[in-house]
Amino acid sequence: MRLYEHEAKQVFREAGIPVPARYGVARSPEGLDGLPVAFPAMVKALALTGGRGKAGGVRQVRDPAGARLAAAEILALRIGDWPVEAVLVEEAVPFSFAAYLGITTSPETFMPVILASSRGGVDIEAAARAEPAAVLRRPIDDSPAELPPGPRDEVVAFLSRDLPGADAAALAETVTRLYHAFQNADAKVAEINPLLVLPDGRVVAADAKLVLDDNALFRQRPLLRRLGLAEPRHDASELTRDERRARAAGFKYVDLLPEDTPRDPGKLYVGLVPGGAGYGIFSIDEVATIGERFLGGRAVPVNFMDSGGGPSQGMVAEMFHLLMDKEIVDVVITSRFGGISSCDVFIRGLVACLRDRRAAGRRVLPVYGRMVGTDLPGARAFLERARAETPEALSGLELESGNRRIMAEVIRDGLAKALAGRDRNG
Ligand code: GDP
Ligand code: MN
Repeated sequence: MRLYEHEAKQVFREAGIPVPARYGVARSPEGLDGLPVAFPAMVKALALTGGRGKAGGVRQVRDPAGARLAAAEILALRIGDWPVEAVLVEEAVPFSFAAYLGITTSPETFMPVILASSRGGVDIEAAARAEPAAVLRRPIDDSPAELPPGPRDEVVAFLSRDLPGADAAALAETVTRLYHAFQNADAKVAEINPLLVLPDGRVVAADAKLVLDDNALFRQRPLLRRLGLAEPRHDASELTRDERRARAAGFKYVDLLPEDTPRDPGKLYVGLVPGGAGYGIFSIDEVATIGERFLGGRAVPVNFMDSGGGPSQGMVAEMFHLLMDKEIVDVVITSRFGGISSCDVFIRGLVACLRDRRAAGRRVLPVYGRMVGTDLPGARAFLERARAETPEALSGLELESGNRRIMAEVIRDGLAKALAGRDRNG
């Protein structure tokens, strides 16, 4: 669950991290009237997304008229896909430098990683790509509750090199407290960008990002209560476009690649329609491992998916549609392990998807897979009939019936054929 900036700043303030004085939150320009504002002030879009600065959602204002105008203009913005629901009005802090300080969780080790850079205020990913040495990545082994002095001093030394005049003790306290807040809130991400260095050397968190781990919200009720939230917020702001599409259709789906991943022409991007959640994780692992061992590391799994028990035919079709509409995907690997779910419903959904797409002239990707289990005889008979009726529509479908071959072999064959097919067609 992602917090709004003013909520994250409240958590940071409680943790002892210096933040700008808060004048108030307004949902309309009139809402600014009566707020105790000292000028110059910042008017900032409250939206569950980053990049507000670039989109014109962060403005410095000098007087009440300027504040009203900025609020009106910012409230009319959409940033990314998100409307601006309110504006935060707070102290404008004069600064000498803008640094970056963040803590996130390593997807490989699940340990916290501190990220620090003296080049803050900007897009830190872009800064890291352009100049990797400008960003320190410091993993914290064993995820202790409090930050040990060793890594703390490393981070402070790294930042201090390029922030002349910054108070080292203030930096050390901020790193320590941010780490404490990250652990204490069960956060996935805690980030200050920019961390402003004032002319007198103090530091202030001018922006705050805090993403709570949904799996730990049950024990973060006191925190939610302090923020005035009776219930966790089920916002969709962290979801990708296809994750929102899947949520609307009622099945679980996770993109494994960032949405703007550039396609590497040497790779094969593999979409997965597995049976259940366990099979979904197995398939991801299997595609990656088979790719490493036999295909020169060229196979990239694209998604996790889980239909839940007993999906409808329409839902099965939508699961395939989603991947076939997804530009980066080259091939779909599927497995229906019929337990609660029926192979018959599965194959009807898949065939409906393929026929509809052919008929509508939409992109049809090759599908390799296997079905086994409940209702297999009926499913097999249906598929044979369907092939006889519309051979053209089903030409890209290779589906093993029964368990003569293990799924790993089916995946390996499918990927090899898909690669060969693509290399042939250029
Ligand atoms: P984001 O673009 O959504 O990350 O929004 P930020 O809160 O980071 O604001 C964007 C930019 O506005 C920052 O990088 C700063 O340059 C500027 N900014 C934000 N807060 C302050 C402040 O208190 N004082 C000053 N002078 N500039 C600020
Ligand atoms: Mn920022």
